[in-house]
Amino acid sequence: MGLLDGKVCFVTGAGRGIGEETVRRFAEEGAIVYGTDLINGSMDESFGKFCTQYKTEVIPMYFDVTDETASKSAIMQIKREQGRLDVLVNNAGIMQDNVIGMISYELMKKVFDVNVFAVLQITQLAAKLMMRQRSGSIVNISSIVGSEGAAGQTVYSASKGAVAAMTKAASKELSPYGIRVNAVAPGLINTDLFRAIGEKKIQENLSHVRMGRLGEPIDVANVITFLASDMSAYVTGEIIGVDGETHV
Ligand code: NDP
Repeated sequence: MGLLDGKVCFVTGAGRGIGEETVRRFAEEGAIVYGTDLINGSMDESFGKFCTQYKTEVIPMYFDVTDETASKSAIMQIKREQGRLDVLVNNAGIMQDNVIGMISYELMKKVFDVNVFAVLQITQLAAKLMMRQRSGSIVNISSIVGSEGAAGQTVYSASKGAVAAMTKAASKELSPYGIRVNAVAPGLINTDLFRAIGEKKIQENLSHVRMGRLGEPIDVANVITFLASDMSAYVTGEIIGVDGETHV
């Protein structure tokens, strides 16, 4: 028996990094997994591999999470094909920023569109389905900078702070329906998004991690799997740090 046997799960930003590893872990635990990404065809190979390896359904969907109509169609497709949705992981996110005084309105809008508004929108769509079932688990991806902030990351930090706040608010509203809403707050995780800061900054940042290493996508995916599963049946409204004791 897997931790997620037969559960229907939807993971956004599933093409690489934390999202892809979460899809793999979910499939390994017996879930039926839908994943979305931007670039057409980018998940076909990996998802095909997971299907064969774990003998379950792993289904790619390609759309931009900021596209409200496409998000609605995706949730409707899941309902049509599986009749239910047990787990939503709002993982898709972008990290773009600039120092204060140089931040354009366009950049603020772009980051908030993906990291905040799309999360709110997809949460609403999924919650409607879950409310009828009177069960479900929603896992959001915040960040250590969502509570601590980081110099040069005012916009990204604000967006991830919003994710933490909406997690707590949605948990209060949805817990009477049997829906749990939690978040993970990763520190420095070894993915394309983090590596984009460059080798010099990576080494500087590493000195702030007491455990002395970067986190790997599986470190985060394991906590997401716990929050998605019935192992955390009485846990809601929590923001769980996955940062190896990092001081930003
Ligand atoms: P990656 O950049 O490695 O992967 C992000 C994924 O999200 C990609 O598959 C990307 O698609 C997808 N994506 C981005 N924008 C959209 C969109 N508009 N619609 C659909 N999919 C989209 O990031 P990580 O795995 O590192 O990050 C995952 C989450 O974790 C993010 O929310 C990030 O903010 C958060 N996080 C990451 C940390 C880290 O150190 N890595 C630390 C703290 C939080 P595509 O491949 O097509 O571009």
